[in-house]
Amino acid sequence: MSVVIGVVSMGLTTPSTPFDVAAVFPELASQRKTTVRLHPRRGRPATTDSSIGGPLLWPADEPWPVCPEPLTHDPSEGWDPLPLVPVMQLFAGDVPELPFPDDTDTLQVLWCPLDHEPYFQPHTIVRWRKTEAVGSLLIEAPVPDPDSDDSYLPTACVLSPERVEEYPAGWGLPAELRERIWAWEEDFPNPDDWSYFDHPSSAPGSKVSGWVRWIQDPVQVECGKGHEMAHLLTIASREFDIETGKRWAPIEERPLPPHAPSEILYPADLVIQDAGSLYLFVCLECPERPVDSLSQGS
Ligand SMILES: [Zn+2]
Ligand SMILES: [Zn+2]
Repeated sequence: MSVVIGVVSMGLTTPSTPFDVAAVFPELASQRKTTVRLHPRRGRPATTDSSIGGPLLWPADEPWPVCPEPLTHDPSEGWDPLPLVPVMQLFAGDVPELPFPDDTDTLQVLWCPLDHEPYFQPHTIVRWRKTEAVGSLLIEAPVPDPDSDDSYLPTACVLSPERVEEYPAGWGLPAELRERIWAWEEDFPNPDDWSYFDHPSSAPGSKVSGWVRWIQDPVQVECGKGHEMAHLLTIASREFDIETGKRWAPIEERPLPPHAPSEILYPADLVIQDAGSLYLFVCLECPERPVDSLSQGS
């Protein structure tokens, strides 16, 4: 498939789960959640579109943020803070599931395109806004600094949100349940075809809400007041791979990997750790909805 420029919504569809895991392991029935797969695909989003790597709806009179954080490596030759780069913009009209603070309807994610402590990840901030309150728009964001790490400069993508049901990531299950699922899968007629980890569990790729698709051990994240934070969204390097693609590649875009084009597998051309993901967490108890982030890679 060639890259289609300017298409805003393609209506991408995830096939249903290949097996009903909750029928076999009833304790999973209460663990089913809805996630919003964003399906980023290269395009030309406008400031008024939800996007990854697109232009942000930004007030002309609001200073563009720069990074206040120290770098992972020692900037011994002296260092000017870099301007942050736009990573994601989501409007309530497209993703009403977001826990918008009162009187806001827009979420913007920006990051500093360099590695930072503690997980070798771009320093990430969010802005919650009200579209009506933006007023005069900033015409152009600052050009990314030449010292930026290219792997953190997203290629602009339009989004086509899709709601899908999912279960906890394999690494997010209690070890005892995980072992029972593995033992059960050994009796599949073709055990190479399907697995809990890759198919009914947590969707890969960029998404909002639902379960974190942990690549390594789960981490519990707390806000500054000690509240346990919830998964807000995931920004993924890769939408799916050879294994997960069997379920998660949209019906409209088959063939499956390895025959799927890289514009579909790596739509925003981001490399977070080793084809990993950045997870954002939000506090649902603090009304201003503070956000924190961490990344994992394989
Ligand atoms: Zn920085
Ligand atoms: Zn809190």
